[in-house]
Amino acid sequence: MSIKNAYLAGVYEGLAKRNAEQKEFLQAVDEVLESLEPVIEARPELEKNGLIERIVEPERVVMFRVPWVDDNGKVQVNRGYRVQFNSAIGPYKGGLRFHSSVNLSVIKFLGFEQVFKNSLTGLPMGGGKGGSDFDPHGKSDAEVMRFCQSFMTELYRHIGPDCDVPAGDIGVGGREIGYLFGQYKRITNSFVGVLTGKGIPYGGSLARTEATGYGLCYYTDEMLKANGKSFDGAKVVVSGSGNVATYANQKATQLGGKVIAMSDSNGYIVDENGIDYKVIKEIKEVKRARIKTYLDYVPSAKYVEGSSGIWTVPCDIALPCATQNELDLDGAKALVANGCYAVAEGANMPSTPDAVAYLQANKVLFAPAKASNAGGVATSGLEMSQNSQRLSWTFDEVDGKLQGIMKNIYANTAAAAEAYGMKGNLVAGANIAGFNKVADAMLAQGIV
Ligand code: NDP
Repeated sequence: MSIKNAYLAGVYEGLAKRNAEQKEFLQAVDEVLESLEPVIEARPELEKNGLIERIVEPERVVMFRVPWVDDNGKVQVNRGYRVQFNSAIGPYKGGLRFHSSVNLSVIKFLGFEQVFKNSLTGLPMGGGKGGSDFDPHGKSDAEVMRFCQSFMTELYRHIGPDCDVPAGDIGVGGREIGYLFGQYKRITNSFVGVLTGKGIPYGGSLARTEATGYGLCYYTDEMLKANGKSFDGAKVVVSGSGNVATYANQKATQLGGKVIAMSDSNGYIVDENGIDYKVIKEIKEVKRARIKTYLDYVPSAKYVEGSSGIWTVPCDIALPCATQNELDLDGAKALVANGCYAVAEGANMPSTPDAVAYLQANKVLFAPAKASNAGGVATSGLEMSQNSQRLSWTFDEVDGKLQGIMKNIYANTAAAAEAYGMKGNLVAGANIAGFNKVADAMLAQGIV
């Protein structure tokens, strides 16, 4: 624990005792509480109202059995989760993750982060997160459908367009959202905007698929410009090759950068001529194959087994877009040694605390996930608005609003850091700006 303020340290210690095994959750809380020290000193009413004790405790946690039948007729059982963390500023909102590593700690860390991220977007959305330890890799479409239907058969009673609106995350893309939506509609006999990331023919928003990756680059662009730099001519390394990574590649390239390395959980590819995001899309979305397949398209590229080595590829800008804690201290040291000047998080909490500290100490511009990857949920918020109005906006309209939102998030996070004496520290700025709005709403609503 790195928290010095006595009130915050006491809350953290109590939380750590009650949730000793939840290391990802505790890591996320530690980082936020550390940033809040100057806020707690400036606002004594927060301690009096037990604001921190309340904000670190989810409003509700649902855990459930998900039984389904595989293609061989065998019954399989997974565990499902929905953590409804905070509804002070709007309905719970946050994705569903299907991955074998999912457990309560991972979902609570993601739900906790989501509260502040959603607040930063300026849209009326509370925070939540859910998922399952089901792994869609290697499953047939029919198996994925049966799993999604079983998952929704329990989840539907806990969600709703004015209560909790899930979306995608790792392992949950357009296919899964479609199956989940179909089952919700069938059970409830209502066609409502209960999920975001839907397909365009049934209420999805144009630009939602691209939004997290695009938003990441819009935020990064603002950060670079404020420091006299830009994507133009920069060598960019993007980890992952899923939704966020693919569209981060596309936008970084459009802004003048050259994406020279990408990865999946098996290894990474390096192509000094620049990786075309359309090839990655085909490998991952159409063929559902491994990133190694890139060599079939570009034989001159290099493939290296093991994903963590990607940070040793010399670059100017690094965009970790795969998963939590994928960029550790060794990775950060390699980036600094090779002259990398900016790291912007596309994934949630991809950098370990010691990696963040090392990057910041070495004057690397650092954009924290809460702010830099908020474009996905912001556009989900825009999808909710379109569903409520029963209208759909054009791609350019949504993309334009996304750009405006990301510029605002940059301005607000930079301003909050400066106002609390930590100019340039966007980690602190994002935590403080996101927190203050939620805290004000909680104070106004009484002890609930
Ligand atoms: P996807 O499932 O589309 O992609 C995840 C990618 O990360 C896959 O290429 C996967 O490879 C790779 N990966 C997983 N673990 C590792 C690892 N240890 N090393 C290298 N690569 C790895 O997920 P998303 O792109 O949607 O999500 C990525 C991150 O972004 C997550 O942290 C998510 O929470 C966050 N995020 C996503 C948003 C969205 O709108 N989708 C919004 C905000 C945040 P493999 O196929 O081998 O598993």
